[in-house]
Amino acid sequence: MKDFDCDLFVIGGGSGGVRAARMAAQRGARVVVAEAAALGGTCVNVGCIPKKLYSYAAHYAEAFEEAAGFGWTVGETHFDWGRLKAARAKEITRLNGVYEQLLRGAGVHLLQGWATLCDAHTVQVRTADGDQRITARHIIIATGGTPLVPAVSGREHVVTSDHMFDLPEFPKRLLIVGGGYIACEFASIFNGLGAQVTQVQRTARVLGGFDADVSAFVAQEMRKHGVDLKLNATVAAIEKRADGLLVTLSGGTQVVADTVLYATGRYPNVEGLGLDAAGVACDARHSIVVDAHYRTSVPSIYALGDVSTQKQLTPVALGEAMALVDHLLGPAAGKAARQMDYALIPTAVFTHPNIGTVGLTEEEARRQFKDVTIYRSEFKALRHTLSGSQERTLMKLVVDAASDRVVGLHMVGADAGEIVQGFAV
Ligand code: FAD
Ligand code: NDP
Repeated sequence: MKDFDCDLFVIGGGSGGVRAARMAAQRGARVVVAEAAALGGTCVNVGCIPKKLYSYAAHYAEAFEEAAGFGWTVGETHFDWGRLKAARAKEITRLNGVYEQLLRGAGVHLLQGWATLCDAHTVQVRTADGDQRITARHIIIATGGTPLVPAVSGREHVVTSDHMFDLPEFPKRLLIVGGGYIACEFASIFNGLGAQVTQVQRTARVLGGFDADVSAFVAQEMRKHGVDLKLNATVAAIEKRADGLLVTLSGGTQVVADTVLYATGRYPNVEGLGLDAAGVACDARHSIVVDAHYRTSVPSIYALGDVSTQKQLTPVALGEAMALVDHLLGPAAGKAARQMDYALIPTAVFTHPNIGTVGLTEEEARRQFKDVTIYRSEFKALRHTLSGSQERTLMKLVVDAASDRVVGLHMVGADAGEIVQGFAV
């Protein structure tokens, strides 16, 4: 049998790649990881982690305002964008180091550089010391995704979520295009931090795949917090003017903004990867096509995470990595092989207030079951009887009437993500 330089070559040191590499190395496999940028990938560097840190920062503004109702005098508050950015950068650098230690501690060989497939068993990595060609019994592609900005006049003036964490100046007037996870979360965060936020969504609702009640409720709450949410609206053109970016919406409305953020979805990182050279097939959305065991059209090459899945979430990338390592190397001693169940993936959206949800939406349940009972409660949290905030909470249970089984749980309110996580388990 041909001897390879390593048992497993992982392209991409993000959530899924690092988890797969570490677990495989712990089982005794000889593993190499190539990462072109910072270890930890999207989630650690420009995704979940910095987003949640900024969301915490934004919640302080609410806390200061509400404190007066409980007898506190807080005095004049001042937000320093530079200090928040520096604190975030320090923490992310620490996490990059933690990821590196985890990999090196497990015996993984790390290569810093862009990796390209040469054939079914060979990867070339462009490192600072020159190109390296490495052969591997198995290759995992875990290269994640990149923001997608549609063609629009003035596209060169817009930014994506990748830039938002480190903007040189705090955007006092921010216009956000999109109604998905990132658009809604960043609208809440920057509104909380003091920006005047306009959010432009092309359809009649935000968060399209969510329960319709949740979408309507969170839109109402975001508006109460001060986000100017414009539904059924699109951007016609963006022009640079002396006083900022002039954004003309369909219908003629004009908004001047310091920053225009496009949060209109992400597409798989497959460019420059050499998929054609190796014969790896993609679908019409450029996602790498995989079977139930994450195997691509080339038997020795696998793909996981955002580059191949429609559910672009960190726990999904992690779950796929663990299932794939069990499949390739066998499960850990005394454990059954892990498999991913995509049926009921819980999810949280860190809007203000948060959304937490698991299971079917009401619409989905009505399609699947003959009789559906809805238990819905909307209320003002006790805290807000004194805080002065008008924020309300929504809880909704979707129940299959025949079996009396809960098939969907949806919440919009403080800490909804954490609360629903308990039920999801
Ligand atoms: P990634 O983590 O993106 O890692 C891919 C890595 O591959 C990158 O480091 C990249 O540099 C590297 N790479 C790419 N091509 C090459 C190459 N040719 N050679 C070498 N290296 C390469 N998910 C949640 O579950 N919860 C959240 O709260 C959440 N918040 C988010 C907020 C934002 C703003 C964004 C953008 C995403 C968020 N996500 C969240 C989604 C989550 O970040 C992704 O689903 C997750 O990071 C996907 O992991 P991955 O391993 O597939 O890819
Ligand atoms: P989403 O798919 O969530 O939302 C994209 C939004 O952009 C939708 O509102 C969509 O409208 C709109 N849109 C798409 N194309 C266009 C266009 N050409 N013109 C105008 N609007 C357009 O993508 P995001 O970029 O927000 O996030 C990417 C992924 O990252 C998410 O799907 C999620 O998996 C992950 N993520 C997870 C988070 C979490 O777990 N908390 C947080 C952030 C990201 P329409 O509704 O009409 O389709």
